[in-house]
Amino acid sequence: MRIRLKERRPETTDVMSFIFDLGGKQLEYRPGQILHYELDTPAFHDERGNNRHFTISSSPTEEGIVMFTTRIRGSGFKETLRQAPVGYELTCETPEGEFILRQGETRIRHVFIAGGIGITPYRSILRYAADMNEPLNVLMLYFNRSSADIIFRRELESIALQMPQFSLVNVLTEPEKGWKGEHGKLGETILRKWIPDPGGLSFWVSGSPGMVSTCRELLELIGVKEQNIRTERFMGY
Ligand SMILES: Cc1cc2nc3c(=O)[nH]c(=O)nc-3n(C[C@H](O)[C@H](O)[C@H](O)COP(=O)(O)OP(=O)(O)OC[C@H]3O[C@@H](n4cnc5c(N)ncnc54)[C@H](O)[C@@H]3O)c2cc1C
Repeated sequence: MRIRLKERRPETTDVMSFIFDLGGKQLEYRPGQILHYELDTPAFHDERGNNRHFTISSSPTEEGIVMFTTRIRGSGFKETLRQAPVGYELTCETPEGEFILRQGETRIRHVFIAGGIGITPYRSILRYAADMNEPLNVLMLYFNRSSADIIFRRELESIALQMPQFSLVNVLTEPEKGWKGEHGKLGETILRKWIPDPGGLSFWVSGSPGMVSTCRELLELIGVKEQNIRTERFMGY
């Protein structure tokens, strides 16, 4: 499907959302799915070529557009999009992926764990639940270095106000002076503190492959069963 760049939205100093116009066509997807993008003729080149996968960070309730959110680190692919004019055309494939809510799962308690850019699927899932007025029972532990690195902070805080069963815990690993919230490394101590009884909970982990592997091991250490953990590894980070 051909899509056109509609808007670039800076989220933090090095994270940007790219919003594409669907040109009046429908793109059916479930919150949490990913999309494959292909550039025709990139203005900048890199060894990974013209294709990338990104999680869809928009929600199906945001009609007429699709969005992804990424760290800008200078690859030719991202640089091309960062400098492209509004209206720039590219191709996306059919949405795919299983990091999604399954039938009946709106009734159980979830724990969403994200590191940095790993927030993208949760933004889609939570935006959708809030817009559809289908409250989700979620504890979210969101790990970042400093408060300036928290992506979608204001939006997530406002969803938490709208959905009382959604608790958002921003955890800083290198908190600045004056930070009154939670801090600490992703480790056994912090997980046991926030999840004293993991029985019956559904765990989701999203982020870089290293973060996801570490987190999975820690969850198993505190007693979470393998079948209650689903993961999304952002290969390439
Ligand atoms: C299922 C799935 C979902 C994904 N969802 C997303 C998503 O929602 N958002 C997203 O951003 N990515 C996502 N990714 C990863 C995405 O596909 C890219 O691989 C990733 O963003 C890296 O992009 P890039 O190759 O353009 O490199 P860039 O990010 O532009 O990096 C350029 C160069 O910097 C290097 N580099 C990497 N990390 C660092 C670092 N910490 N410091 C300095 N240099 C570094 C890289 O090796 C690379 O060569 C997902 C991947 C998968 C498989």
